[in-house]
Amino acid sequence: MQCHQTNPKTQQPSNLESSADHEPLKPSAKPPAVMDYAAVDPVKFWQRVNKKSPEECWEWQGTINGDGYGVLKFRKAPHTAHRISLFLSGRNTSPEKPMVLHSCHNRRCVNPNHLRPGCSQENEDDKVKASRQCRGSAIAHSKLSEAQVSEIRALLTRKLSKQSIANRFCVARQTISKISRGLTWKHHTL
Ligand SMILES: [Zn+2]
Repeated sequence: MQCHQTNPKTQQPSNLESSADHEPLKPSAKPPAVMDYAAVDPVKFWQRVNKKSPEECWEWQGTINGDGYGVLKFRKAPHTAHRISLFLSGRNTSPEKPMVLHSCHNRRCVNPNHLRPGCSQENEDDKVKASRQCRGSAIAHSKLSEAQVSEIRALLTRKLSKQSIANRFCVARQTISKISRGLTWKHHTL
């Protein structure tokens, strides 16, 4: 798995602190490759997280952005919670690995054990791997439990993408789509 050097043109200066005060980043703006979150209060941060065992997903309880990621306002701009969590765990992104990747494919998750710095190629490789694993377990025939359907509905209301939910439960995207539209599991109400 190869990480290429990112295009210098797409990198933003890491000292955006002063400019951010006057020109808040738009929600869609990408953060620079390396950010310093030392000023984030870890106590306040973890108060917004549903902490579970080290293996489970720790879901962000605060604001969720349009892409399904947890966000926190930092210096008047929205920053993704998983990125801050990685920093608080003593690690950080770098110009070579500017992204924070989820091993669990749960965008809302901020468990540092599920996060690692990576590049876009690794991100793509992860997606391919996840769909291949699912295919291996015969997604078309996998059965969902009622509890899982409830969880899927909850994730849908939290704006998680259908593909990421499908990967998480190892089912086809269409299965999630049908649940979303109420075409299946009509008898099962929350
Ligand atoms: Zn997770």
